[in-house]
Amino acid sequence: MYWDQPPTPTDKRPKKIYMYIPKHFYPKELVPPDIFNQRGNQAIELIDERVLITLDKLRETFGTCVINDWMFNDEGRYTQSGLRTSDSDVYSPTSQHTFGRAMDCKFKDYSGEEIRKHVIENKALFPYITFIEDDVSWFHFDVRNCERITLWSPNTKKAVLV
Ligand SMILES: [Zn+2]
Repeated sequence: MYWDQPPTPTDKRPKKIYMYIPKHFYPKELVPPDIFNQRGNQAIELIDERVLITLDKLRETFGTCVINDWMFNDEGRYTQSGLRTSDSDVYSPTSQHTFGRAMDCKFKDYSGEEIRKHVIENKALFPYITFIEDDVSWFHFDVRNCERITLWSPNTKKAVLV
């Protein structure tokens, strides 16, 4: 894959890469194990480019952040925090996770609540985030087609514009 192999000396033509390759996340962190085993790094094609750009911006702003950690150690707990597939217990056909448009971020140095507050106060830094879940310990954002930013609580089922 392109990120494993630098251009060879015989390859004189400049490479034009139009896709966005995240600086701070491997593709396997963003998809479940089955999908990575099937598709390898090409699994990145299943994640919306706006999500990838936003993840890098969040990482550069708030520091270390875990999405899935199944590949790092045996105690890895998360397999469904990025792309979600129909074999998942928490699968929903209409979830933004199903379309590669949502991520559940766990930051090392900040709670989900702190991240929500910072992002809402600095919306201009995160132009692609349209939807945030409230009342959860992680930071769920997605890039669905809706008025921005919609803050929705899974407890009250109420949505407000923030
Ligand atoms: Zn989520």
